Amino acid sequence: MGTPGLPSPLYPVGDERFERHGVRLLLKRDDLIHPSVPGNKWRKLVPNLAEAAGRTVLTFGGAYSNHLRATAAAGRLLGLPTVGVVRGDELAGLPLNPSLARCAADGMRLCFVSRAAYRRRNDPAALSGLLEEAGAGPGDGVLDPFVVPEGGSNEAAVRGCAELGGELREAAAGVDVAAVACGTGGTLAGLAAGLGPRQRALGVPVLRGGFLGRDTEALQRSTFGGRRGDWWLDDRFHHGGYARVPPELEAFAADFEDRHGLPVERLYVAKMLHALVTLVGEGAFARGSAVAAVVTGRPEPS
Ligand SMILES: *Cc1c(COP(=O)(O)O)cnc(C)c1O
Repeated sequence: MGTPGLPSPLYPVGDERFERHGVRLLLKRDDLIHPSVPGNKWRKLVPNLAEAAGRTVLTFGGAYSNHLRATAAAGRLLGLPTVGVVRGDELAGLPLNPSLARCAADGMRLCFVSRAAYRRRNDPAALSGLLEEAGAGPGDGVLDPFVVPEGGSNEAAVRGCAELGGELREAAAGVDVAAVACGTGGTLAGLAAGLGPRQRALGVPVLRGGFLGRDTEALQRSTFGGRRGDWWLDDRFHHGGYARVPPELEAFAADFEDRHGLPVERLYVAKMLHALVTLVGEGAFARGSAVAAVVTGRPEPS
């Protein structure tokens, strides 16, 4: 499936907002791992598709889900059939948006279900009914699918992301803090577990709600048997919630692109970078320390 760029590049960038406080900023370019399955999605999906071992991979997402798109691309690359259960049956009769069109072009079978049915997807008893209703049951030729949860965060994914921590642990640049944007917390759960004993991980939730500490801990518990690594969350940088990009965040991201020539993905990466610039200004990082910003994805081509 093409050679992924692992370990992903890690390099320092000169940014006066950090230098002023004696802090080094490094970029961990996970967005460069693979052209069609970038970033943390590669780290999370590849162990899952290996475990699927040829079975149809079935997963879930909203109409703009990065996870669905990455699953479709990874399935095509590895030669596994994929089924995407999409939230919202009102979408069924409409033209596909660009994200879903990409999924379909990669061979993913898309099944639209009502929001009520979608909410029951994690109940094993309800799931088979949901799949029948969606046209993705045994009667439709989908036998014994390998089910990956919405957002792709399960034990295999967390283990895959521990390798991200391992790369930063080994890095010659000497990373003290690694920062990552969080949706489900799977990437943070693995990253923190893979870091070395004197390193810390910062998670920046992009959704509102304050559930991420619990979810990340639950993922670490089911994967490793308990909490692992030294990690914390800062809940101040969601900018109103998922997919909200208010003008001040847009301006921040455009300015960061100008300064560093880095394409800044807005829904996750911009919020994490904004958190780091704010935190360094607040004196949150010790003088002489190095902060690695994990670039988990790249902007959609428009
Ligand atoms: C999916 C995604 C995340 C969130 O990863 P989780 O493991 O769900 O926390 C972060 N950044 C980008 C660019 C993503 O696409």
